[in-house]
Amino acid sequence: MPGFARKLEEKLEAIRKAGLYRSLRRLNSPQTSRIECEGQRCLNFSSNDYLGLADHPALKEAAIKAIEKFGAGSGASRLICGSLGPHHELDETLAEFKRTEAALSFSSGYAAAVGTITALLDKNDVLVLDKLVHASIVDAARLSGAKLRVFAHNDLESLEQILQWAQRERSGGTVLVVVESVYSMDGDLAPLRELVRLKERYGAWLMVDEAHGTGLFGAHGRGVAEQEGVADAIEIQMGTVGKALGAAGGYICGSRALIDLLVNRARSFIFSTAPVPAAAASATAGVRLVSGEEGEKRRQLLWKNVRRVTEELPGLSSSSAIIPILVGDERQAVETAGSLRQNGIFIPAVRYPTVARGQARLRLTLSASHSEQDIAELVRALKTQNVVSHARHGEIVNKTMS
Ligand SMILES: *Cc1c(COP(=O)(O)O)cnc(C)c1O
Repeated sequence: MPGFARKLEEKLEAIRKAGLYRSLRRLNSPQTSRIECEGQRCLNFSSNDYLGLADHPALKEAAIKAIEKFGAGSGASRLICGSLGPHHELDETLAEFKRTEAALSFSSGYAAAVGTITALLDKNDVLVLDKLVHASIVDAARLSGAKLRVFAHNDLESLEQILQWAQRERSGGTVLVVVESVYSMDGDLAPLRELVRLKERYGAWLMVDEAHGTGLFGAHGRGVAEQEGVADAIEIQMGTVGKALGAAGGYICGSRALIDLLVNRARSFIFSTAPVPAAAASATAGVRLVSGEEGEKRRQLLWKNVRRVTEELPGLSSSSAIIPILVGDERQAVETAGSLRQNGIFIPAVRYPTVARGQARLRLTLSASHSEQDIAELVRALKTQNVVSHARHGEIVNKTMS
């Protein structure tokens, strides 16, 4: 198959030339603050395990018990015969946690986004996205066939103009606005209260992806929507289980009718084998921990770590556990990440297509499981290598370019 091989090699070469080549790194340790990555011990500042639950004994024990009682596999999709006890328990626990009528768990956040948006909209409807929403939502938008409009990131005026256009344009169709509560690569928050006001003024629906908000914000860790007091006004609350909740999966919380419709229409839910019982059970344990005292304790530790890093490095700021260090140039970002890694600090370089071209960055994430010493080592390495002042220069260059 010489043609096939040549074609693929050409494509790979183009990726390499652009400084965008990616490969997998093998980790030989659990997902904690200290990892062993390709034979080297590193401090881990790359994980979305913000509360340090991925290796928590309660989640592991829940998984083991579920395996013993329900087996390793689920056997079928949930609508055939794979809807096991642990899946129902997770759905019920999620609804209780989020104070919604009902909830539905998916095998991943990606599957939740794709299944939900395509179940709700078709070509007669309008989908309005923030420019920086996650790839899963962009893919869902394309698949749905709905008319697509994108507003400038967190820009309410830009959104309002589109909503006015949609009001004129739509003939009975639905208008759905989709945002994230915490943006995954920038760490900034959406103005949820204003977004709710706008969508209500124009009779649109709102879907909020709390992938990086769930477990971290609000008095009970339900997310930014709880913190802002607008959860009840959001039609579709989405989240992931693989981040602060410490396990794997995605979910939608909302009305009973929404969940019933998804069970009937969300293709990523219907045509996919149910997650293994262990995943559902550890997810339930994660939700329980996050909504209780332990969650609160861990949130305090996390915010203390965020404060410490942003105080010690005034060039950095963040309203969440994600602290972007903007570099700009793709190769430069990879180089900087490489030299930090050689010094035992793992912060990944994030490049196009995860972020826009010329917007490459180090994506630094903090966790409740980082000790004071871990944070001190991070700060020392960033200062020694002058990473932050370099990054600020990158930011200025980008601004003048755009
Ligand atoms: C991670 C993420 C997803 C996808 O969730 P998975 O469970 O990893 O598939 C969706 N939206 C956002 C904003 C994310 O960061």
